[in-house]
Amino acid sequence: MEPVLSLKNISYAYHTAQAETPVLSDISLDVFQGEFISIVGPSGCGKSTLLSIINGLLKPDEGTLLLGENTGGDSPVKVGYMLQRDQLFEWRTIWQNAILGLEITHQLNEKNMKKTMERLKFYDLYDFKDSYPSQLSGGMRQRVALVRTLALEPQLLLLDEPFSALDYQTRLMVSDDICMLIKKEKRTALLVTHDLSEAISTADRILVLSKRPAGIKADIPIQFETADLSPLERRNSPLFSAYFNKIWKELIGHEQHQ
Ligand code: ADP
Repeated sequence: MEPVLSLKNISYAYHTAQAETPVLSDISLDVFQGEFISIVGPSGCGKSTLLSIINGLLKPDEGTLLLGENTGGDSPVKVGYMLQRDQLFEWRTIWQNAILGLEITHQLNEKNMKKTMERLKFYDLYDFKDSYPSQLSGGMRQRVALVRTLALEPQLLLLDEPFSALDYQTRLMVSDDICMLIKKEKRTALLVTHDLSEAISTADRILVLSKRPAGIKADIPIQFETADLSPLERRNSPLFSAYFNKIWKELIGHEQHQ
């Protein structure tokens, strides 16, 4: 099977008039269709920068990035990006927010509108389609942001701390909820998070990045008793704390050697 995304020896540094800040060093990674990968690492190590490179917002200084057909697959890969803040437009209704991406990319046809309406129903947002974002809870707003992202049918989803603006309890519910939805839709996803429990409860694979300039320090497959455990069930599994300790040691080991 060809990877959806392939990074080979990617390096990147930010350049300002005063200094050069090396951020990524020699990152190589293959991501396969349907994988849910979490990326953890010390704050400021380069996680968001890595997503920006994958999304094409930044160009790597060195190395190659291959997406979809370029990796040998048979179609181009569309990438969707979901950020920490839901970035809904307050003056547009939920429906108008949900179809924003389709509008901008001139894909607002009957088929896509029908699909988006079905998603609003599926995600329990249909009754709010004529409401405004300020009338929704933080969790519901994030679900609208997800519907808007999925409307463009991205095969690869980049999620940059999408739950961190939510309070703890809502965060647990919404992250579990959204990760299950992404898996049901069989999307390929890369989730950047600073929350180790969130990573373990959702991912098939966890990448631990080292301090800046970040390299991949560990690439850990996550396997629970069965493949279809919900994030909540994973949190209650005896395997959970073993994974937590293992990955925590990778992170802390690095802190101690700084
Ligand atoms: P993370 O997502 O892991 O917290 P980032 O990728 O946001 O880390 O940032 C990595 C490093 O690059 C940080 O030290 C940050 O200060 C620096 N950085 C981020 N954006 C810029 C920029 N536009 N110009 C210069 N340095 C930057």
